[in-house]
Amino acid sequence: MPAAAPKPANSNSAAPAATPMMAQYWVLKEKAGDCLLFYRMGDFFELFFDDAKAAAATLDIALTSRGEHEGQPVAMCGVPVHAAEGYLARLIRAGHRVAIAEQVETPAEAKARGGSKALVARAIVRFVTAGTLTEESLLEGRSANRLAALAEIGSEGAVAIAAADISTGRFEVVAVRPEAVDAELARLSPSELLVSESAGELPMSSARQLVRRPPSDFSSTTAQKRLEAFFGVQTLDGFGAFSRGEIAAMGALVAYLDHVGTGAPTFLQPPVRHLASGRMAIDAATRESLELVRTMAGSREGSLLGTIDRTVTAAGARLLADDLASPLTDKAAILDRLDLVDALARDALWRGDLRAALRALPDAGRALGRLVAGRGGPRDLAQLRDALGGARLLRERLARRPDLPPLLARLLPGLDGHGALVDELSRALIDTPPVDAAQGGYIAEGYDHALDALRDTARDGRKAIAALETGYRDRTGIASLKIRHNGVLGYHVEVPAKYADALMAPESGFAHRQTLAGVVRFNSADLHEAASRVTQAGVHAVAAEAAHLEALTEAATARREQIAASCDVLARLDVAAALADHAMSHNWCRPDLADTPCLDVAGGRHPVVEAALAKSGERFVPNDVSLSDTDRLWLVTGPNMGGKSTFLRQNALIVVLAQAGGFVPAASAKLGLVDKLFSRVGASDNLARGRSTFMVEMVETAAILAQATPQSFVILDEVGRGTSTYDGLALAWSVVEAVHEVNRCRCLFATHYHELTRLAETLDALSLHHVRAREWQGDLVLLHELADGPADRSYGLAVARLAGVPASVVKRAEAVLAKLEAGREKTGGLAAGLDDLPLFAATLVAAPAAAKDGLRDALAAIDPDALAPREALEALYALKRILTDERP
Ligand code: ADP
Ligand code: MG
Repeated sequence: MPAAAPKPANSNSAAPAATPMMAQYWVLKEKAGDCLLFYRMGDFFELFFDDAKAAAATLDIALTSRGEHEGQPVAMCGVPVHAAEGYLARLIRAGHRVAIAEQVETPAEAKARGGSKALVARAIVRFVTAGTLTEESLLEGRSANRLAALAEIGSEGAVAIAAADISTGRFEVVAVRPEAVDAELARLSPSELLVSESAGELPMSSARQLVRRPPSDFSSTTAQKRLEAFFGVQTLDGFGAFSRGEIAAMGALVAYLDHVGTGAPTFLQPPVRHLASGRMAIDAATRESLELVRTMAGSREGSLLGTIDRTVTAAGARLLADDLASPLTDKAAILDRLDLVDALARDALWRGDLRAALRALPDAGRALGRLVAGRGGPRDLAQLRDALGGARLLRERLARRPDLPPLLARLLPGLDGHGALVDELSRALIDTPPVDAAQGGYIAEGYDHALDALRDTARDGRKAIAALETGYRDRTGIASLKIRHNGVLGYHVEVPAKYADALMAPESGFAHRQTLAGVVRFNSADLHEAASRVTQAGVHAVAAEAAHLEALTEAATARREQIAASCDVLARLDVAAALADHAMSHNWCRPDLADTPCLDVAGGRHPVVEAALAKSGERFVPNDVSLSDTDRLWLVTGPNMGGKSTFLRQNALIVVLAQAGGFVPAASAKLGLVDKLFSRVGASDNLARGRSTFMVEMVETAAILAQATPQSFVILDEVGRGTSTYDGLALAWSVVEAVHEVNRCRCLFATHYHELTRLAETLDALSLHHVRAREWQGDLVLLHELADGPADRSYGLAVARLAGVPASVVKRAEAVLAKLEAGREKTGGLAAGLDDLPLFAATLVAAPAAAKDGLRDALAAIDPDALAPREALEALYALKRILTDERP
């Protein structure tokens, strides 16, 4: 569901300022635009005016006020800085974007600069937005988080979409026809979508947040320069030949990253062009109804992905989601993946080994992302060391296997080449270094002799201090004398108050520092000297470690592209092994790919329904399907709850799984490659949508009729159900005819209109099937088993009884039904006379498309670029005139 972008939080942003602080606030707020402004004041981020109201409502925190502005109290709320991350997460999830204004000087610096009343300078240091998150705590490890930008160059007739996951640096761009934009966005499912302020209205069903950016961001000339600068290249040609639209979209995305990060580095790999041509086209409505990677309610659990995901790494999980969202249409590429899954399926020992090895590897992709973005630490470097070191071992083990599947043989070299880096990191870092570098202690002993010497000095100093303690005890005879350390005094001597007098004497060699309730503290010259040796060595050691950290980070990020490529290989191995593992434990089979448009499945099952049934100990009834050129449209009838929808969807899912390169839930399966997949569900089954549901149903059906080809696979589930009986039947009837005669695609059509079965008499590639049911001792038994021929009756009343409708009502319904059926016998029923209709194909010949179309001709003659505004208006009037003239 498209969460509405939050309203601009302050409408009166140019209001005059009452105090210097308010003046500063308004300048920053102006820059923040429609983002909430987090204004740093000491230990809090404060929000004011409408920002405060919006945040208080979302976060459920107290709204207070502070001073007045134009006679009104100023609304205010705040969050403590140390807990800001959690609050940010909630605001982002609620659809807000946040600008963080930090204090960029200390109060002392402000005073030195502008006197005692000077205001601390503040600046926006970054924007936090859904698509540009990098904080691990705000990210979901197993899903991608994408930022997308959309650009349209009128003359190219295509829309370009650039998408990046800045936590892993994955950057792709795709150009599609305008009508396919929604499908592409549904695949990418970006958290944030950038469009130009000058772009028209867009049907953004699949982006969670729409952000308008200045048209200049989308100019392809500036974009080109911006991209060249970003990647530090003379020309983008090395990455591929991009269209102007693609460059504009990528440029707009990079401009936004620069804007939100206010200049901080971000991690983007060179852009990869996503070829929509090698992928199965699946539009937004189809994705939603098939619940490929998330359910209609939006959760991963209960989707196809959630049910079959056995990946053991976060990167593998992200890749599996991409694979299912974007099945292939290239036979060789599918076979490559299938061969790998197959090999892993056959060898359980190997598979187990590989999965165990992969499971032990850290998420190197995101560690690399943090390092490149300048937020990495020793722990991230250690993760790279372990992941790449593990990859090297894995490669050696895999390379020893005979008969490597071709895809694996091609992938293996991608795991190589990090030897020097891994060795360096292994020598440099301790086993499990801290996340944060501040305290030092992460560089291993023996890596840097100077550092070791500093540490020795510090260690010797600490020994000397321990020796001093013993010496002082002997000298003073105070056994409870201790040398302690704290942040204020540093090293000092401490004795119980009752012994303090001896040390107070001027000639004692001790200098008094502090008297507390029970103890008195002293300093001494020897101690001071030993202590400063320790401290100095410590400071130098931390600095030396920091220098190493920087050099190591640089060495790692210099290889960012090779590392990212290795991460991709590991993810691919994980996905293949996971698919194989799931296939083996669920008795799935390897699909055969045919060169003709067929779909032959024996013993097919719906993985999600089967899993749900298994939980309650019930068995799923497998069903067959066999579509071919001569029998390509199956009309499925049968009682409600009989399993029609399940049957339709399981076959669509089998197609998706097979072309994603995985095994399928069946005893055997053979399919001709599907270019486009469509799934439509009758409106009343799908009330979650906002628009008039019947309207939606028809819009979506129209899309199928316009796009499906003989290579497509279509499932239509109770289409026509959202309107009155006559309308619905009439539409369902003509849709079936059109699909059969014009689109000629493979199609499963479930319907409760029994009358449609008459179509079998006229449409030769259509056949009738039904889900079986039996009435037994007055009860309805649903067998969920598919059989040939039409259902003998509708069992509607039996279903009603099953559902608990009172017996008296069902009895009354039986009487009404008897009357209705008697009437039907006499008149021939709802579909009486339909057999006499001329065939759909015959009516097509006379369709107006062939007629002369003055409007179309006139329109074609117009060159919009050559028109002055006035001429454009005149042209519009001329077009209207043609329309009225042509109307009969
Ligand atoms: P219909 O579309 O005919 O109304 P559904 O496909 O929605 O029926 O199925 C209704 C319920 O029947 C499902 O939720 C599932 O629990 C069960 N069901 C469907 N197909 C099968 C099957 N092949 N084996 C076992 N149970 C099934
Ligand atoms: Mg149904």
